[in-house]
This record gives sequence, structure tokens and C-alpha cells, in this order.
Amino acid sequence: MSLDEVYAAVANDPGRCALFTDLDGTLSDIIDDPALVEPIAGAGDALAGLASVLGTVAVVSGRPVAFLERFFSAPIELSGLYGLEHRTGDRLLIDSAALEWLPVMSQTADEARELFGIESVEDKRYSLTVHYRRSADDATRIEQWTRDTASRTGLDARSAKMSVELHPPSSRSKGDVVGDLLVGMRTAMYIGDDVGDLPAFAKLKHAAESGQVDSYAAVLVANHETVPEMHELATDVVDTPEDVLRILNTIAEAATP
Ligand SMILES: [Mg+2]
Repeated sequence: MSLDEVYAAVANDPGRCALFTDLDGTLSDIIDDPALVEPIAGAGDALAGLASVLGTVAVVSGRPVAFLERFFSAPIELSGLYGLEHRTGDRLLIDSAALEWLPVMSQTADEARELFGIESVEDKRYSLTVHYRRSADDATRIEQWTRDTASRTGLDARSAKMSVELHPPSSRSKGDVVGDLLVGMRTAMYIGDDVGDLPAFAKLKHAAESGQVDSYAAVLVANHETVPEMHELATDVVDTPEDVLRILNTIAEAATP
């Protein structure tokens, strides 16, 4: 399985091809202030073009849908907070577990802001990220607090890039999102760069092994923070968001007779 097979399948039957992509570190450069992240020039337009020819195009991110909406519009599907939020057309769907845990999440966010400062805490309403990108010395303290909070409240703690996250328990992963959107598709590709993308890579491998799809590509945008497991599941490896844009453009060419 590889990108070349995906290009061939796109040329053959674009309507049954699905394209999934992460945002941070995949379509965007990694920068110190997460609030200032944006896709590189041309990435949004390339995705919009593909969304009109492929069966499904979705941005699958740990960010809230409200953040993703700044850059991407329908018919691109937006899956936020690892699938706790999903926007399709003009409908925003919220996972029931997210609603149930809202009071606990809100209280936990208040506590995190008090302990680590407002600039370290990304309150996503249905989940919470505490960053230590700007204060590496705080990493141990933040990780400890997150573990303690998880066992006290029942929330799920997850490691992310230079940060830790708290989610409603047994909540969705990017793999679940891909699984839902894969229905009816024969070819799929997922582009991502970090540990949160692993379940999506694994989902595609499984979909190919079980015959649900005929071909797939798991494209890794490798950087100095990439974990080894990602290389094991990746079918293709690139280095930068600019490389990703070239892939998007090649898919567009393949889809245009
Ligand atoms: Mg990422």
C-alpha cells in the first residue's frame, strides 16, 4: 500500500476515495503559540478543490471545530476534539459523552488555569489541553497533575505533542472518526504527524486487511517529535507541510481527467 496506489485509485474512481488530514504539524508548521497556528498558504484551497471531487474530505483534529472553521468550509467535513465534535454541512454534532462530562471538564479547566496560568491552558469546552511548550520545566508538574486529576475525576488523560490532555472517559479517537467516514469508500488516505494520529493509521491498515478498502496510504509528516510507532504504521513519509501540499496537488491532478 502506498501513495502511488492511491493516486491510481483516485484517477479511476474519485467518488469512492476518502482523504483525511490532521491540521497541526501536518498542514501547518509547528509554532510556539498554538493560538497562531494556521494552514500553509494554498492548503485550504487545495482541500476545498478536492472536497468537490473526492467522496469525502475531512480535517480530523484535536482542535475544536470553531478553530477549524476559520480555515475550512463545507463540503470539507470537520472533526474536532478527536471526534467529540463533528461538522458536516451546516450541522454541528456533539458526542453524548462530551455533554455528560461538561460540568467536570469546566471545573477541571478552572483548576488548571489557577495552577498553571491562563496561557498554558487551552480550554476546548469538551476537553482540555495543558501545554508545556513554553515552559519545559513545568512538564513534570503538569504531567503529575494530569494523572492525579484523571484518577480523581474519572477523566481520560492523554499525552500529546508537548502537552497533556484530559478527555471524557472512553471517548473517541481519530481512528473512530475515520471508521465512521470510511463507509462506502474503497480507497482512503490519512495524513498526520503525531501520536494522536496513530489510531487513524491503525484503522486504515485494519480496513485494508479486512477488505473494507482496496488501497490506502498512511502518510507521516515526520519531525523531531515523531514517535517510532508512527514509522511502523506509515506507508509513506514526508518532511514538511509543503510536501503535503504537493501530495494534495498531485491527487487533484489525478482526479482531473
Ligand atoms: Mg498534528
